[in-house]
Amino acid sequence: MTPGPTQVPQKSLLALAKQVTHHRTPDAAELYKNVVTALQQVCCTKNDLFLLTGSGTAAMEAAVTNFASRGEKILVLSSGKFSERWGEIAKAFGITPIFYELAWGERFDNEEVKKILAANPDVVAVYGTLCETSTGVGHDVQGIGKIVKETDAIFVVDGISAVGSVECRTDDWGIDVLAVGSQKALMGAPGTAIISVSEKAWRKCEKTSRQAFYFDLVKYKKNAADLTTPFTTPKSQLEALGLSVNLLLEEGLENVWRRNAQLAAATRAGLTAMRLRLTTKFPSDAMTAAFIPETIDAGTLMKTLENRYGVKLAGGQGDWKGKIFRMAHFGMIDECDVLGVLCAIEMTLNALGFAVPLGAAARAAEQSFGVL
Ligand SMILES: *Cc1c(COP(=O)(O)O)cnc(C)c1O
Repeated sequence: MTPGPTQVPQKSLLALAKQVTHHRTPDAAELYKNVVTALQQVCCTKNDLFLLTGSGTAAMEAAVTNFASRGEKILVLSSGKFSERWGEIAKAFGITPIFYELAWGERFDNEEVKKILAANPDVVAVYGTLCETSTGVGHDVQGIGKIVKETDAIFVVDGISAVGSVECRTDDWGIDVLAVGSQKALMGAPGTAIISVSEKAWRKCEKTSRQAFYFDLVKYKKNAADLTTPFTTPKSQLEALGLSVNLLLEEGLENVWRRNAQLAAATRAGLTAMRLRLTTKFPSDAMTAAFIPETIDAGTLMKTLENRYGVKLAGGQGDWKGKIFRMAHFGMIDECDVLGVLCAIEMTLNALGFAVPLGAAARAAEQSFGVL
């Protein structure tokens, strides 16, 4: 149940078991084209889209080094472990981040973003996050996109955990660069990062002295004309990822978003019925995080869930280490998973001395699902 990596569908697992074949071949080109096209659909974009061998952070690094030169200023919307990473990457390359920083669990105020950009016209790019996986907050990327669009800055979004789970209309929302990872809502194996690049972002890229070699997106653009990658294509991974993404497309994106929203609502209802406090008033529908009662040791809770019930949740990160748990409802997770996990949490809380009326969570979740 962790918000990445997630379980991989059987069809895709079987693709991973096939013999490895060479990557400069017509069949590799066909695979490349199909996977890129499917991902463009999931990302709601007609922009160029590239496949990088690496985890999601590879796309984040490429999204910094290709669009900001050493010494240039970027605005980082920072409110959690993953959004902080934008600033860390920038600093590693001598790029100057300025921060609009909020307490974890809060959501950015669009008017404030507007003011900061007006006061800092030398900001070349704004870095945001669609679902802040460390806190469970869903940010108003659509609203922020409108503001950034009116400026010369480009808008870069970390959609690593959100794309394939919640609405992300890259082109309509003015997202110039989108970063995604294979191992979250897209149900691929870990190891492929995805990045999309708009015309506005290309214009900035051309003026940028890029501190990149492996992640130099100009190389990827040149190779894309031949339907290939500059370095060895992770064909097995791509074949599996393509099959998984096609499952989402067959279901229909809007149906996927609706299903994830229903699972999220039921999860929130169930946790609240157990008297657990959610980490935010602005929850994403991709995943949910809740505070662990102070009387309960986080490690014992997680271990009991894993050993007794086979349920793996993710713990807190940074300042919230030992204080929260996080669970996904994207990918292959369904109603029965959510119900079962809520019940397992309820039984474990009771076993550890935090009294919850048995059945409270299941009842609330069932009511939330409603009559089908
Ligand atoms: C998982 C995640 C990342 C990091 O991805 P890796 O694949 O571990 O590099 C970055 N941002 C968000 C929002 C994430 O959920």
